[in-house]
Amino acid sequence: MDSQHTEQLYERFPELYRERTAPLKSSGMAWGFQCGNGWYKIIYEMSQKIQKLSVGGEFAPAITQVSKHEDGTLHVEARNITPPIQDVIATAREASRLTCEECGYSPAFLRKGKGAEAPHIACGRCARKNTPTTTRKTNKRNRRPRRAPDIVVVKR
Ligand SMILES: [Zn+2]
Repeated sequence: MDSQHTEQLYERFPELYRERTAPLKSSGMAWGFQCGNGWYKIIYEMSQKIQKLSVGGEFAPAITQVSKHEDGTLHVEARNITPPIQDVIATAREASRLTCEECGYSPAFLRKGKGAEAPHIACGRCARKNTPTTTRKTNKRNRRPRRAPDIVVVKR
């Protein structure tokens, strides 16, 4: 997530994200929001609901990490949470499953990453934009002429 959106969340929910300045050893929140801008609204609404459910003070809930699950959905870790807050976090994950991580468009779907690329949730437009497969294929063909694989040159 870019710094502008990140700052907006920190300014609006300073208590909830108080571990943003904690050392990395004790809290993953120092990494910031490890996802795209498209989920800003989901995270904002989740934060708002958690804030409403929380009591202040030392034992108030704190988000300790925002990243992604292996299946590409939103992953949130928190401290001092109650079952209702757990539900809010689970709901946010379900919302992320259908929301484009890049632009926020819904419906979006899980795209299986190619090669080393991790799975991610993207709308049709963003998925097409990020995989210029047609041009890549043509380039490869132009560079190297095709040859039948069964021709073997034997030296005598
Ligand atoms: Zn998109």
